[in-house]
Amino acid sequence: MAFFRHNKPLLMPETTYSFYEVYCDLLQIEPEKIPLDSEFRINLEDYDRENGGIIFANPNAPTGIALPLNRIEQLLQRHPDSLVLVDEAYVDFGAETAIGLIARYPNLLVTHTFSKARSLAGMRVGAAFGHPDLIAGLERVKNSFNSYPLDMLAIETATASIADDVYFKKVCKRIMHTREHTTAALTGKGFKVLPSATNFIFVTHPERDALEMMQALRAEKILVRHFTRPGINQFLRISIGTDAEMAQLIDKL
Ligand SMILES: *Cc1c(COP(=O)(O)O)cnc(C)c1O
Repeated sequence: MAFFRHNKPLLMPETTYSFYEVYCDLLQIEPEKIPLDSEFRINLEDYDRENGGIIFANPNAPTGIALPLNRIEQLLQRHPDSLVLVDEAYVDFGAETAIGLIARYPNLLVTHTFSKARSLAGMRVGAAFGHPDLIAGLERVKNSFNSYPLDMLAIETATASIADDVYFKKVCKRIMHTREHTTAALTGKGFKVLPSATNFIFVTHPERDALEMMQALRAEKILVRHFTRPGINQFLRISIGTDAEMAQLIDKL
């Protein structure tokens, strides 16, 4: 609402967080979906075309793959007149944040959420980082429809989460450790696991149908996500749980 209502399309990956398209529909923004490369990576050179803005998640979802920071910086240099929104919902699970680039690139907006690594989805807290002019634009829009989106409990809880950085880093590290262990175990069973910098893995098996695996796991009361969209319909997105939960999953698979 603040930045992307132009006559030119908003560029986004073809495979990414599904809500971008929902907001485009709501706000009558034309999305232009750029395919991932053959390894399911975002190739930012493909974004060198006419646009009214660029948005992508880093790491991306549901692939889990992260882009290196220098690629994002090169994109910002090539598009000084476009707003580039980097959605870092999963950045704490092993990717590099682009926040350090804000001082040099006034066209960069970075968003975070407290819903993932901070386990506070029910509190509905997020944050945006960018040049003061961009933040002023966000504030203006926010104050036009909801001046007080954060209640007192949400503010207190989010503040406490930021204050306890030791615990936060410890939990992120534990999840990353479990992720790497799970990745190795599934690779050993013949699965292809995309390199993940998130709290989930995106996996496929050369001989097993993904939908059938999803249904068989469901019968065992293990819930994993299957997407019906062509291109990714042979993959499962598996959230990282505890070591015990992942051992169960590996055993059932
Ligand atoms: C979860 C998520 C968000 C934001 O989630 P909220 O709970 O609405 O803060 C944004 N982007 C991606 C890619 C996500 O997975």
